[in-house]
Amino acid sequence: MIVVMKPKATARQISDVINRVQADGYRAHLSEGEQHTIIGVVGESPTPLREENYSVMEGVEKVMRVSVPYKLASRHFHPADTLVPLNGALMGGQKVLVIAGPCSVESRDQIIELACAVKEAGATALRGGAFKPRTSPYSFQGYGEKALQWLAEARERTGLPVVTEVMDAALVPLVCQYADVLQIGARNMQNFTLLNAAGESQHTILLKRGMSSTVEDLLMSAEYILAQGNKRVMVCERGIRTFEKATRNTFDVNAIPVLKAATHLPVVADPSHAVGLWEYVEPIARSAVAAGADGLIVEVHARPEEAVSDGRQSLKPDRFKAMMEQVRRVAEAVGRTA
Ligand code: PEP
Ligand code: MN
Repeated sequence: MIVVMKPKATARQISDVINRVQADGYRAHLSEGEQHTIIGVVGESPTPLREENYSVMEGVEKVMRVSVPYKLASRHFHPADTLVPLNGALMGGQKVLVIAGPCSVESRDQIIELACAVKEAGATALRGGAFKPRTSPYSFQGYGEKALQWLAEARERTGLPVVTEVMDAALVPLVCQYADVLQIGARNMQNFTLLNAAGESQHTILLKRGMSSTVEDLLMSAEYILAQGNKRVMVCERGIRTFEKATRNTFDVNAIPVLKAATHLPVVADPSHAVGLWEYVEPIARSAVAAGADGLIVEVHARPEEAVSDGRQSLKPDRFKAMMEQVRRVAEAVGRTA
């Protein structure tokens, strides 16, 4: 349930509603918009919530039941867009922000070379995997902490914040020491222990959609992080499994406007994993921005033929630069910048 206060509701009237929520055994979450203060009521209690008891309170404009199971992630609770700071810019704001870099961090020189290249092309943040979630236990698993150190060095050189995946709750403190943004990968989207640890860290989180998860599942996972009081969450569409075999996954372009309507959180698209073939990354990136994505995360590699993972979907730096130009033009066509 949400309680929408009148535009002129006083601080006293707001605190009376919060006290009533707590007396009924629920948690109150405050969202202060330009016009209205909204009080979200979450949790479980033996006391039933009676809308009429709240709607008669002073300063209350209306009381609404929220039928979706996610609450803190929902736009009903928080109508204004959440803006997540990234490198002096805001993910979710007017500018479409691009995170770019290799699938895996392969060496110190590799990540520094790529950080310089993607920065030059206009990227806002650097990606690179130190802990890799591989389908096969025999595939390259990542250089772990050594790779985190190389990423931190690349940040020092370029000023680009670092986005990297954390696969295990126990590793959250270590990855937080080096990363600016913790990525939770598709395969871990419903690792609830990890989601709680990521929430508790209060670090910025990039939460990727599971390959067989619905939009609602994704937002329920975001809810875990938000429920820990961590509001800096971005959600990411990265392609889903379908019957189609021509591409690695199927980019669910529908999910972009659906997510933008359902949640206030910034929506990022990953055209690289969505399509899996470098030659289609640019058109999928364009479609994501045209559909309203706030940001992109793109794999770039100087020598894809030598990449230890995802070379087939990695753009060379010059192609990434060309993609950025196309993305800029599409962003402008939909009233944004890039
Ligand atoms: C990645 O970003 O390299 C990755 C493994 O992505 P996903 O979790 O979406 O498969
Ligand atoms: Mn990858």
